[in-house]
Amino acid sequence: MSIKKVLHYGTPSLREPSKEVHKVSRKITDLVQDLFDTMYAQNGVGLAAPQIGVNLRVFVIDASTKEEPLDPMVFINPKIIKKSGAIKSNEGCLSFPEAYTDVVRYKDIMVKATNEHGKPFVMEVKGGNLLARAIQHENDHLDGILFIDHCLNRFEAEEVLKKYNLPSIDPDKLIDEEEMKSQL
Ligand code: ZN
Repeated sequence: MSIKKVLHYGTPSLREPSKEVHKVSRKITDLVQDLFDTMYAQNGVGLAAPQIGVNLRVFVIDASTKEEPLDPMVFINPKIIKKSGAIKSNEGCLSFPEAYTDVVRYKDIMVKATNEHGKPFVMEVKGGNLLARAIQHENDHLDGILFIDHCLNRFEAEEVLKKYNLPSIDPDKLIDEEEMKSQL
């Protein structure tokens, strides 16, 4: 398939909730391939369909390191069905070129989704590793939520956005996570 343009922060559709996939058709498997092609081309860990302008509930992740073989994972209509604990995570996003900031994420999650063959699966990821954090980050994209909405230090995040000429934080979008933050 092909490498697509990744939409940058400030594009209104990144804030829109995405629609459920009703059937894993050719259109969806083509979309999955475009997501992988685009993600690998940009050395990303994950990419969600709305980031390439398709507001459907699909994302892909490859959390393998350089020394390991590729480990492509597909999540269609994902739902995080269990979450607990809290961990600090320094995150970036292909829609925010070069901008990184600390956010809070759940440590342990259980996610239910459908794969590229239309098969449902449940995955449990513990310990706040890259995969656990990436699933939460990509899943948020499907609801129009962006990583800066979880920022630990608003002032610091604001500075980073300014440095890379990205729009400032939308205070209405900030998520109240005081309870999680108190667990860090
Ligand atoms: Zn992202």
